[in-house]
Amino acid sequence: MKYILVLLTIIFLAFTAQPSEAVEILHTYDSMKEDTQELASQYPNIAIYSEHASSTGLNLEIFSVDVALNITELSEDELAALPTMYVDGSHHGNEGMSAEAAFLFLQDILERSNANPTYLEGKRLVVTPVMNADGYFQDCRNNWDGVDLNRNYPYMWGMYGTSDTRGTCPASGTYRGPSEGSEIETQANMDLMRGMNLYVYFSGHTGSNDIVLPWKITGEFAVPIADWELYEHFLNEATNVSGLTYRDPSGAGESIAWGYGARTAVSVIVEVDTMQWSPVLPDGSIREALVNELLMYDLAWENLKLFGGYLEIVDETSNSVTVMNNGWGAAYNTTAGNGIIDIIQPGETVTINRNGNFMQYHRLLQVGEKENLTLMNVNLTDIKSDNSESTPSLSFVSIIFCLMAVITFRRKK
Ligand SMILES: [Zn+2]
Repeated sequence: MKYILVLLTIIFLAFTAQPSEAVEILHTYDSMKEDTQELASQYPNIAIYSEHASSTGLNLEIFSVDVALNITELSEDELAALPTMYVDGSHHGNEGMSAEAAFLFLQDILERSNANPTYLEGKRLVVTPVMNADGYFQDCRNNWDGVDLNRNYPYMWGMYGTSDTRGTCPASGTYRGPSEGSEIETQANMDLMRGMNLYVYFSGHTGSNDIVLPWKITGEFAVPIADWELYEHFLNEATNVSGLTYRDPSGAGESIAWGYGARTAVSVIVEVDTMQWSPVLPDGSIREALVNELLMYDLAWENLKLFGGYLEIVDETSNSVTVMNNGWGAAYNTTAGNGIIDIIQPGETVTINRNGNFMQYHRLLQVGEKENLTLMNVNLTDIKSDNSESTPSLSFVSIIFCLMAVITFRRKK
């Protein structure tokens, strides 16, 4: 159906558009796949294109691009350990502008990283422009089985704002699916995310042009967000650069609920535009229409390591370490082997006792589906104690002392 619309649009524009008018047509499934593959191939040292699953009905490839510095030289474990931002688009197939936003962001990161590798250093980006390939191909909200993929994730599944009736194309619907995580597309996205050390997850949608929280925090079915102060910091920064405000979601079982609840990423939907069901942008360029949203994507990327507690070492001695929390959230249960500091607030500097060359803390409060998803391991400098020269003689003294004690003990016998 999308192809017929595109064809009709091209014919219409050929007869009506003035040469000066900039009118852009959104990608089709095939052109998005081709352009994404082509884009990644231009940066072989930092980008890998892959097709990792096939859609339910039409067997279309679900494709992603993985981005990291010298990516071909990294082992699977090294790649999986990098702090990661994940961006997807078109869980709803009729929300084409969200796929465009994912594509443009990928393009920007690749261009900038190629010009300046520090833009990419120590981080990983993964982008899936089209989650719901069948829906995107047909310009339908739901997948081939009539399931609203953004109600199908196994976190708070079916709790509110979902339907138990299969949706039909092109009509919209919120069918949550026969069981939680039942759909191939949902499982493919979960598998992909489970292979990441996920810090931030942006899921692209269109319709309301704002930011959506992972679950309701007000009214009926509200559940507090454990790391709300971190979220709030990020949301304020996001509003400053993009002008977008945030709201509760309208349904449960969304990908972002799972992204935060199970995978501990700061996860939000970015509703990048109000436009749906159209292959054509009425006026201006796609990039112009998404400029504010892309600023928000940039903000998250450039501050990725700050999403949570982020302890930086200010000073070290043989028996203490002084750290400052430069992150946007608190650091929890910090230890260097000698006692535990429950919480270090953002901006706070703390000196902690150490025993060894190792420090640990949790970046977030949310625990997720696996233990230690947010655990940070920091190597400390091996510093000899101030009286290190006298240490051998001290040991010598204690040995002599022990011998004397033994001798005394034997004599008393
Ligand atoms: Zn949507």
